[in-house]
Amino acid sequence: MALVPVGSPGERLEAAVWARILLARTDGTWHRLKLCREPACRSAFYDRSRNNSGVWHDVRRCGNAANLRASRARRKQRAAGAPAGG
Ligand SMILES: [Zn+2]
Repeated sequence: MALVPVGSPGERLEAAVWARILLARTDGTWHRLKLCREPACRSAFYDRSRNNSGVWHDVRRCGNAANLRASRARRKQRAAGAPAGG
């Protein structure tokens, strides 16, 4: 059995993409296709982490920026005298 895209070039491309999505959903790889958590990025990526816990398309670029923002926010909160950790 084979899936053979037909139609115009655009329709064949669309059919090929949907066929890959269908295969990914059946072979367990679909849940590893993700969008980067960084709002300014939102790049699509394939999560190759062992436990499927990746959230950044590139940890050095997007993960470090997010961690730096979170660290600054915590420091600012502490400096304002707010209780840490809520
Ligand atoms: Zn990213």
